[in-house]
Amino acid sequence: MALIGIDLGTTNSLVAVWEDGHPSLLKNSLGSVLTPSVISINDDGNILAGEVAKQRLVSHPGLTVSEFKRTMGTDYIYHLGSRQYRSEELSAFLLKKMISDAEEQLGTPVTEAVISVPAYFDDNQREATKLAARIAGVEVKRLINEPSAAILYRQWKMRDIEAEPDGIYIVVDFGGGTLDISIVDCFENIIEIVAVSGDNKLGGKDFDKAVALDFCERNNLSFEALDNNTKHNLLWCAEEVKRSLSDSSTASMRVNIHGTIYEHVYTEGELLDACAKVLGKIKSIINNAVNGAKISVDEIMDVVLVGGSCKMPIVQKYISALFKRNVTADDDIDNYVGYGTGVLTGIIRRDGYIRDIVMTDVCPFSLGVGTRMNDSSPEYMSVIIPKNSILPISKSATYAGLTPFQKRLGFKIYQGEEMLANANLLLDSFGIDVIPDANGDTAVEVTFTYDINGLLEVSARDLNGPLTFEKNILSKSSQLSESEIAGKRAYMNNNMHLEKDKEENRRIMAWAQRLHAQADTEDKVRVISIIKDFSTALENNNPAQIARTRKRVSQQLLCMDLIINHHNFDDEDIIRKLQADIAKEQAEYADE
Ligand code: AMP
Repeated sequence: MALIGIDLGTTNSLVAVWEDGHPSLLKNSLGSVLTPSVISINDDGNILAGEVAKQRLVSHPGLTVSEFKRTMGTDYIYHLGSRQYRSEELSAFLLKKMISDAEEQLGTPVTEAVISVPAYFDDNQREATKLAARIAGVEVKRLINEPSAAILYRQWKMRDIEAEPDGIYIVVDFGGGTLDISIVDCFENIIEIVAVSGDNKLGGKDFDKAVALDFCERNNLSFEALDNNTKHNLLWCAEEVKRSLSDSSTASMRVNIHGTIYEHVYTEGELLDACAKVLGKIKSIINNAVNGAKISVDEIMDVVLVGGSCKMPIVQKYISALFKRNVTADDDIDNYVGYGTGVLTGIIRRDGYIRDIVMTDVCPFSLGVGTRMNDSSPEYMSVIIPKNSILPISKSATYAGLTPFQKRLGFKIYQGEEMLANANLLLDSFGIDVIPDANGDTAVEVTFTYDINGLLEVSARDLNGPLTFEKNILSKSSQLSESEIAGKRAYMNNNMHLEKDKEENRRIMAWAQRLHAQADTEDKVRVISIIKDFSTALENNNPAQIARTRKRVSQQLLCMDLIINHHNFDDEDIIRKLQADIAKEQAEYADE
């Protein structure tokens, strides 16, 4: 029975374990530590997860979904083919795939997991994450905030190389869909998160959209008027250009829209112009965290960059300018959060010296109830647990009724920093029966308990009544009954086929289909001939021949991908080398 750490990312997800005194990342069935957070349903109704699904984003957008983490804990429904899914079900499919790959690697069943979530995830989003794990069949030992996981790994890494890790750090975790800022005080074995701030609707996808819009403007196109497939293709190409510009000074974006080729060679300066508005949003979020920690920028010992978007030189330069120092990203920032979940599994298992590390986290937002002076006054926010309180925490406040002989007091629970209650996020509401009082002197004590996983429990009692508590009165609308969970698990198990070999073949097919959707007429013909070649091998059902064809076809597809989606001028050399390799391989094949 194993305990694993899972970084359940917006774009990619990772699995980590603690073994032999250090965290390690487990490879998925396709040999990569990154599993794209993408789900697709194929023509037979099979659920595909990860890389295979990602390839289908362009070729089958109506049957494929990514970034579902952005709608965790909401009522948003995804329509894939004839079925509807909520974000927690899609997350469960992804978790199932990662757990199954982990079991294959570890040779033992995985029953427990530590899962990372953005610090800014609210109660509904955290509950939805736990629900996803239950559908997937694992128990969540702990939810850890992503920046906390990142700093946990960094501290472990520093300790390992005997660097001096004590001091105040700021962690900038900028992923595909969220920006989380944490201020962390590290002293000896204690890692104390002192303040957090964030935006769970700001991430790498906003840069992609900004580039796609800029590209359309340069080519006199209207993004909104494009059909769904073309939009997806454009966003795909925009992301590729954005990534290329992290390594090269120019990158070419070339998009085939209904037979017409549109092209622009981007420079870093043009990327900066296109993305200026997105960058501008970072500053106030960092300021919030620094103010929340009641420190000055000079007290910050180091800026730790985490998440894929921090790889962008324009992001690093912007943050360097904000902090007036040179800020760069480590090579393995994609893996920081994943590794951090692995370190936490070591702490939970109380393994060796790691067991001495203590980490405290904070509540990322204020929690309270709405109160009124009288029936006609606006509802004000009465904070029970203030933002940045250290977790776990339990606090109470007493509220009076508004009128004599009142039989019941109703409460709305809000999260947020605004003075007017309804400007904050309404989490839930509840009511408690009270003993009516002629003078209206009813008094109800409301207690909020916020646990180490960032989950809220609410209890209340009538101070004039018998000593009875109403506990855990949140309605948890996203919760499902045991039988509903079992039903969803059965559907998942019946429709997910995770055999390694078949998945490789599906990945090749999905890749070819994506290229077919992106190619112009001439290249489409070449892609079709590759698909036919591979289909013939599959029909012959000879494992050795399939493996060999798969290798050849992979090289051909890589070459076609570079031809169809080439971004910078180094690609020309790679294409020539690949073409030479393919010709050699084909000659060998023909000789046999
Ligand atoms: P994460 O959620 O941390 O996996 O980050 C995913 C985001 O990082 C996506 O929006 C990616 O496009 C972006 N990303 C990943 N690698 C790079 C790179 N080399 N340059 C720019 N953005 C990147």
